[in-house]
Amino acid sequence: MRLRNVKGSRENIAESEFVIHDETSMKGKWHEFFGNDNPIHIEIGMGKGRFMMDLAAQNPDINYVGIEKYSSVLIRAIEKQTELKLPNLVFIRMEAEYIADVFDKGEVGYIYLNFSDPWPKDRHAKRRLTSKEFLARYEQILAEDGGVTFKTDNVPLFDFSLEQVDEAGWELLNKTYDLHNSEYNEGNIMTEYEERFSSMGNPICRLMSRPKWDKE
Ligand code: SAH
Repeated sequence: MRLRNVKGSRENIAESEFVIHDETSMKGKWHEFFGNDNPIHIEIGMGKGRFMMDLAAQNPDINYVGIEKYSSVLIRAIEKQTELKLPNLVFIRMEAEYIADVFDKGEVGYIYLNFSDPWPKDRHAKRRLTSKEFLARYEQILAEDGGVTFKTDNVPLFDFSLEQVDEAGWELLNKTYDLHNSEYNEGNIMTEYEERFSSMGNPICRLMSRPKWDKE
């Protein structure tokens, strides 16, 4: 993704009440932080965050944490949330690799991955957010009834992700190579990238998967 250097974004992020700054100290304390026992759902690689904001507005009984590594896009989410002030939504600026330092075992009810970076070179496969290395991290933080939904228009990345789900020993609940023309489209919330790519005519792929907790 091409990033503009948004002036002052780091400073604005440092000051925002909607950003968790000392995220590792939150491990095991997220429910206490939100002040309720509602499930906690996260999006990793949230970008400008519209998907998280739509979900948070629609589901006041779910808490949302949007994770994004770049200040320059996160700042857009913060600006919007500063207007909306959704009580069930906060953000973290971090690299997702360290996700298991931020959430405790079972603390995350659901994980969304939308239009994750493809990392097309084979030697970068471990950096893909649907690699088996990342799935193992998700398994460390997901609740037993939790799972992952992944959307992309990138077919090679989608096929790779299906293989990784299998290699990780996860259960594939459903998949489609054309979400918008499938039985699964009802209630679908479009992300910023989804709108952009589908308006260019690209079909959207989606899979839902979860760990098998009874495997050896
Ligand atoms: N989910 C949004 C944005 C997709 S672009 C949408 O669908 O519209 C992918 C985003 O993921 C970018 O903003 C990128 O900075 C972020 N990202 C990619 N790898 C990441 C990582 N390892 N940790 C945190 N954020 C990441």
